[in-house]
Amino acid sequence: MMKTNRAVIVQCRLSSTRLPGKALKDLGGKPVLAWVLSSMKKVKADYYYVATDEESYEQLLPVCSQYGFECFAGPLDDVLARFTMLLETIKAKTVIRATADNPFLFYEAAEESAALFEEKNTGKGSCDYLTYSGLPHGSGVEVFSADSLKKAAGETNDPYDHEHVGPALYNHKDKYVCEFVPAPRRYDFPELRTTIDTYSDYLRALSIINYMKTKGYEGPYSTEQIIEACKSNNVKYPVVLVPSVVKGHGTGHLHRCLNAAKECGAFVYIPEDKSLAETDSIVKEYIASGLAENQIISSIPDESYLPAIITDTFELTENQLKELSKNRSLISIDEGSKYTDYCDYLLDIIPSYKCDRPANKSDSGFITKPQNVRPQAKADQEKKIEKILICLGGEDPANLTIPAAKAFMKKFPEAKITAIISNEASPYIEEAGGPNIEFVKPIAGLREKLFEYDIVATHYGLTAFEAVYAGCGVILLPTTKLHKKLAEKYNFAFVGDKVISDSALQSALDSENLYAGKLISDDKKSLGEFLRHLSAGKKMCCPVCGSFPSKPDEVISRNETRTYRRCSKCGMVYMAYTTIEDKKYQKAYFFEDYKKQYGKTYEEDFESIKAQGMRRVSVIKSLAGARGETLLDIGCAYGPFLSAATDNGINAFGTDIADDAVAYVQNKLKLPAVCSAFPEIDTAEEFGIAQFDIVTMWYVIEHFKDLGSVLRKVSSLVKKGGVFAFSTPSGEGISAVSDKDHFYQISPTDHYTIWEPGRADSILRQFGFKVERIVSTGHHPERFPSIKKSGAKPGSLKWVLVEAQSHAKRLGDTVEIYCKKI
Ligand SMILES: [Zn+2]
Repeated sequence: MMKTNRAVIVQCRLSSTRLPGKALKDLGGKPVLAWVLSSMKKVKADYYYVATDEESYEQLLPVCSQYGFECFAGPLDDVLARFTMLLETIKAKTVIRATADNPFLFYEAAEESAALFEEKNTGKGSCDYLTYSGLPHGSGVEVFSADSLKKAAGETNDPYDHEHVGPALYNHKDKYVCEFVPAPRRYDFPELRTTIDTYSDYLRALSIINYMKTKGYEGPYSTEQIIEACKSNNVKYPVVLVPSVVKGHGTGHLHRCLNAAKECGAFVYIPEDKSLAETDSIVKEYIASGLAENQIISSIPDESYLPAIITDTFELTENQLKELSKNRSLISIDEGSKYTDYCDYLLDIIPSYKCDRPANKSDSGFITKPQNVRPQAKADQEKKIEKILICLGGEDPANLTIPAAKAFMKKFPEAKITAIISNEASPYIEEAGGPNIEFVKPIAGLREKLFEYDIVATHYGLTAFEAVYAGCGVILLPTTKLHKKLAEKYNFAFVGDKVISDSALQSALDSENLYAGKLISDDKKSLGEFLRHLSAGKKMCCPVCGSFPSKPDEVISRNETRTYRRCSKCGMVYMAYTTIEDKKYQKAYFFEDYKKQYGKTYEEDFESIKAQGMRRVSVIKSLAGARGETLLDIGCAYGPFLSAATDNGINAFGTDIADDAVAYVQNKLKLPAVCSAFPEIDTAEEFGIAQFDIVTMWYVIEHFKDLGSVLRKVSSLVKKGGVFAFSTPSGEGISAVSDKDHFYQISPTDHYTIWEPGRADSILRQFGFKVERIVSTGHHPERFPSIKKSGAKPGSLKWVLVEAQSHAKRLGDTVEIYCKKI
């Protein structure tokens, strides 16, 4: 075998303070260290060593031997000495050093950088230390000369140098040639992190491994596979599901979360102090059917990993919600508490009785439907009832199981009745017992067994819906007034009383709702996939104030893709959560999007927009007087307003993010304009003007995510006494006032703030402006409820009156705000 003169040395200790014993922590079936060693074994060398301390030696030895590494023990803290001691025992020239907390090393890059190092040391060249820069944090190695390290170790007393290895060389560049070589493009991903330093890192590593498994990739993983995993949504947007495992809440929450986790690779948080007795057996059931064991976690990762937290806990306390929503998205399923303002997104799956609480999305289609369905469910209505299941949850607080069993036995003496009870020692069992009745413990995987029964008697809840989907006849046994209301609301057949009388049971059996077909939707939806989609959503704070408040801002409106809040500090309504990706303002914005929206191109609309501009210029002139000499139009687009201002003798300058629009202004209109992303513009440099008499923004201001810094910049650009004018959709117009939720639903997804004219002054004053005039525009009588209802036509008296009212009360759907710098 060819001599390489290389030694691969993996530095490892078990006494990590942040994550003790991490090198031996299980990562998808083998210890973290095993992944490191199998990767490094791919790098050519004569020697393969794990350099550890005396304390860790015994425990590491088996893993080392298994993967073909020698184990060397040296000092715990003086790692430099540990390395030099080891190097005294072997004859290596080149050392390739990796650390044991990096299971996703780029072994190809390690091999290449070692070869590059050796190449630099051929002939007259010399290099003491080399590493690639730009690799993911945790995927790189260091390469250095064994002799240089031994020499350097003898020269330094610096404790830092001795606690580490590389610094003995690269912190002494006067003596040693150290190169940080920018990594080739295929390794250059400095934004990614693969190391395991914290618990959150460990969860990320688990996500990577689980991703590899679903893809069928075998380790040691190639660079491409590691990059692919790191960029996958499973790793990028981690999800932690928090189901209720509290006694009294039933097992539905746990089932739902475990199932979703199986679908999307999410983690499920199950605390040590769970009180739900069935927890462990239910978890085992899912692990047996494909859920990775490592998806179950017993502590919630810190916000450094920023997972989206998804709760399915029935009712959270304010403190729990506060803690969980800290610095990350909080998504809640069927949340029943009154503190839902903490939740960035509310998903209702089992239609809730708290209907006055709006949700972002209500969809019972996410109930996991049983795969086993009764054949020809409808024809079964005619059939004999032979098998009955009574399932009132493990807990049955109202003790309805026995009375129900008796009532069914009386009604169907030939039928076989199965009743689920958690307490087999119930004194009533004997009393209710009979040849046709069987009492059983909670049934594992009940969902897929429901189809065996002709009738399922249960409470309002998950099992009821599942039984409907399985094609069973479903009778609810409501215990409370509320349950009765729900049964009625969702068209279930039910026995309305605590006493299950013969006649009540008969009327439930006769009910047209016995097979509650109205509930069935054919949509096959994956809750896991939807939650994964939500977890990629962005949580945002007030764009004006720029920080998250300690108590959540009041929610103004929720819809399927967004949540809007009102800032408690400045009063601005802003988009606080969105699942929609950022819009890129490129060429296509004007050519295609505009046409899509208005049916004509922006250029074709030029003259009518310019006419608006002429009117706006006259308002500005009335406020700015003789001062109106210079003007900056931010977001000038194709320049219709610049053109109007110029026609009015104003020295107008424009800026826009779209380069094609700027080119049009420069070349066609021959007006000064620059392409820039406001607020990053230096007008003194671009136009030779530091401050303007007038700054304008027409339908631009709502697009800024960082409105605070934008307004500060605008303020610095307007001379004292000068005018700042802008237009924007109005949050107090007829559309917003008459149907708030619809207004926010159709609000463009790149509008981050919604201005309410009545609050504009107090917001603008923070930035040195005083509102001088508000012009309500965009009047639409046809959007007024009274016109909608009466169908009045344009020109009719009613129409004219409504239009006058719209003007008088500033109910236009858009608004122009003119203010002065004070
Ligand atoms: Zn604010």
